[in-house]
Amino acid sequence: MKIDLHSHTYYSDGQLSPAELVARAQQMQVDVLAITDHDTLNGLAEAHQTCAQLGHPLAIIDGVEISTGWHNFDIHIVGLNVDTDSPSLQAFLAEQETRRADRAGLIAAKLEQCGFVGVLDKARGLAGPGQLTRAHFARVLVNDFGVASMDTAFKKYLGKGKRAAVKAHWPTMAEAIDAIQAAQGQAVLAHPAHYDMTAKWLRRLVAEFATAGGDGIEIAAPAAGQQKSVLINELAAEHQLKASSGSDFHFPSRWRELGKNPTPTTTLTPIWQNWPQAVNNTNKENADL
Ligand code: MN
Ligand code: MN
Ligand code: MN
Repeated sequence: MKIDLHSHTYYSDGQLSPAELVARAQQMQVDVLAITDHDTLNGLAEAHQTCAQLGHPLAIIDGVEISTGWHNFDIHIVGLNVDTDSPSLQAFLAEQETRRADRAGLIAAKLEQCGFVGVLDKARGLAGPGQLTRAHFARVLVNDFGVASMDTAFKKYLGKGKRAAVKAHWPTMAEAIDAIQAAQGQAVLAHPAHYDMTAKWLRRLVAEFATAGGDGIEIAAPAAGQQKSVLINELAAEHQLKASSGSDFHFPSRWRELGKNPTPTTTLTPIWQNWPQAVNNTNKENADL
């Protein structure tokens, strides 16, 4: 059974529509896919519709990736199996949307000062129905203003401490965990190997996430660094966090693909252990054998 619990559509900074994402997951033989757009649930209904219309056996997990702040780091918390009708989660995400819109305005003003005239409209055009993220600004700098790459756009302008950086005022980890759990979801610490922090800080982060009531943590592929991937497994066990795993797919590329995410070692409990969606798929697979 292939389970991928982290992916994006064009409702945040992904490039595919929910329908295209579902089709690609099907093509990659993914059985269970969580759609986890940044601070929005807007792509989920369309994904479910597509599955139903096409008779796909793919199970969609309703998810979201929430931005939080912790000691000057932007920390992402993934919510899985959230109740999309939860009024408290919807109110929480509406606030996130306001924070994002405010930040986008400030980033645009700074980029204009750097000489990138009209950058806000161009980024809005690119974002389409989705929320504006820094990735959209980066892409506009590359597409329309000759900046060499997305990476360069972040290193020169959008990254922490750079000319167009705007400090975001995100909620705390505990607030995000509460919002997810109040909507009957499970809270997962996203991509712990990707934060630019030392092992000492990572230990603190995972400890505080667990103390705040977090349910799981995304394990890292050894390719992300053997040491870090081992450390994350150790920390998951130490704090009794369940293992989650996702590709964090944003767009087709050589580097990332739906369903090409690591399988947890048997020492950890997978976060999907008691999920009906995963069980059904397991049974189906066994029945085929
Ligand atoms: Mn993203
Ligand atoms: Mn993230
Ligand atoms: Mn993500």
